[in-house]
Amino acid sequence: MSIVKNLPATFANRDIEGMCRRRYDALVIGGGINGAGIARDLALRGLRVALVEKGDFASGTSSASTKLIHGGVRYLEHLDFHLVFESCRERSILQKIAPHLVRPLPFFIPVYRDDPRSLLTIRAGMALYDLLALLRNTRHHSILNPAEAVRREPALQQEGLKGVALYWDCRMDDARLCLENVLAAREAGAETRNYLQVTGLLASGGLTRGARLRDMENGEEVEIEARVVVNATGPWLDEVCALDGDEEKKLRPTRGTHILVPRINCGEEALYLTAGRDDRLFFVIPRGPLSLIGTTDVDFRGGADEVGPTEEDVGYLLSETARHLRREPPKRSEVVASFAGLRPLLSDSSAKASGVSREHRIFESGSGLISVGGGKYTTYRAVADEVARRVCRRLGKSPGRCLTHRLPLPGGATGRFETYLRRRTPVLAERCGLPETTVESLILRYGSRIDQLLALADAEPELLQPIAEKSTLLAVEAAYAIEVEMARTPEDILRRRTALALGAGRGVAELENVSTLLGRRLRAPADRCQQWQSAYRARYSTP
Ligand code: FAD
Repeated sequence: MSIVKNLPATFANRDIEGMCRRRYDALVIGGGINGAGIARDLALRGLRVALVEKGDFASGTSSASTKLIHGGVRYLEHLDFHLVFESCRERSILQKIAPHLVRPLPFFIPVYRDDPRSLLTIRAGMALYDLLALLRNTRHHSILNPAEAVRREPALQQEGLKGVALYWDCRMDDARLCLENVLAAREAGAETRNYLQVTGLLASGGLTRGARLRDMENGEEVEIEARVVVNATGPWLDEVCALDGDEEKKLRPTRGTHILVPRINCGEEALYLTAGRDDRLFFVIPRGPLSLIGTTDVDFRGGADEVGPTEEDVGYLLSETARHLRREPPKRSEVVASFAGLRPLLSDSSAKASGVSREHRIFESGSGLISVGGGKYTTYRAVADEVARRVCRRLGKSPGRCLTHRLPLPGGATGRFETYLRRRTPVLAERCGLPETTVESLILRYGSRIDQLLALADAEPELLQPIAEKSTLLAVEAAYAIEVEMARTPEDILRRRTALALGAGRGVAELENVSTLLGRRLRAPADRCQQWQSAYRARYSTP
């Protein structure tokens, strides 16, 4: 992230001045899933809300997750029944409010002869998991014998295999689910800005009353007043608490790395595997032509801005995957992409990082700063509800009713999604002259906003062309990201509005044209386009 000075007003003009003239009920710091969810909830309760994010929305942990909305089978081992119960309930709600982004996914847990968890233990855990979901899961679990399991997933190591548990959770697009919450917050009346960093807190009469901010695009300093400030900065939580004079460490951040390799699963099921060296569980998830493998869980003591995958993490994932495969395991040179994020876990003296609870906690300082730590992506909506009620109490307002469990997210207004997908795909394909497979992918990304997206091409039909030769990215998607989805850099478009940066080509072939389109639409100077491209290449040219 760089501060760019002397840009023409047109480029920098995001009406930040206008935002500074207003006085808000609540200022939410941090545009990850928690901040976005809180801003939406508060705005739906009729509060005047501002949401600010120092980078792009979801540029922190919320685009570096395993991309699962899950009950958390693993937490049963820690007897964390409340978390599993809450997560299963949230899984079912999120499938209803964002059915295009939260999609059912079957999982295999293979059990081998010397595994730390016996087939009996896994069977009992699965029964409990179904029970805690209160029959709201996609399907009940079943236990497959080794022959049946290997028939369905020939890549699995057969030697010593005792059986395989098959159960269901959901996959999701973490960056886009976060973005849809930001868009929903905006639709409900919140002001939302990315590239605006809180550098200090304003106080009056001993109470926090707003924040000093830096516009990361032009370096200007501004102030925003609010009656309550919410710190939803995830792994940066302690840094923002320090601005409030509170130096106590509330977090124990742990680093989680993922790698993407050419597809190793033959079937459509994700694999939930046990690492031999430390008995940890990790996933191998099919992702088009690739497999996503992760994650690690390692205590992290550096600055939250510095996190990145280490060679040790990558080696761990490759070698632990290899012991479960019958086929030749992926090599280091085959790793297409890797990424790492920090879990903002609550401070805890557990010996093992993976043993730290995933529950959340809300802190309220003497000056009234409300901070939220811990939690998992899956439970963000419930956490937002709790924070929103706390904010209302502080404002002396009745909290009213939470609406986020029943109002669809912006792309989620599809009715029964499978029917919507089946009916709309051929109609739109015919209308726009696009292949049905392309339209289907667009619906899975934009849900019911597909019409808004395609309407952009009514005036400029050339936008329906791929942005670069043979690219799967249509120019209209980049245009929509800029016009509607607040993208400000090529990385915003290639890594978070779409996930090309995690694919084999890493978005490098699309970079120049995306930069040109962005430069033209934001009226950015030519040297800015060059800076975007160099920064992107430096970050994404190596796996
Ligand atoms: P973040 O997403 O990090 O958001 C905080 C934001 O605050 C950042 O964008 C940051 O830029 C911004 N910020 C910081 N300081 C400032 C400032 N001064 N001014 C303005 N903005 C600021 N959970 C699941 O349910 N399912 C999973 O599959 C899953 N997998 C995971 C895998 C890994 C490797 C990790 C690390 C976590 C995973 N989690 C998962 C947990 C989940 O991803 C996190 O709990 C969640 O994303 C945290 O969101 P957040 O909004 O609190 O933090």
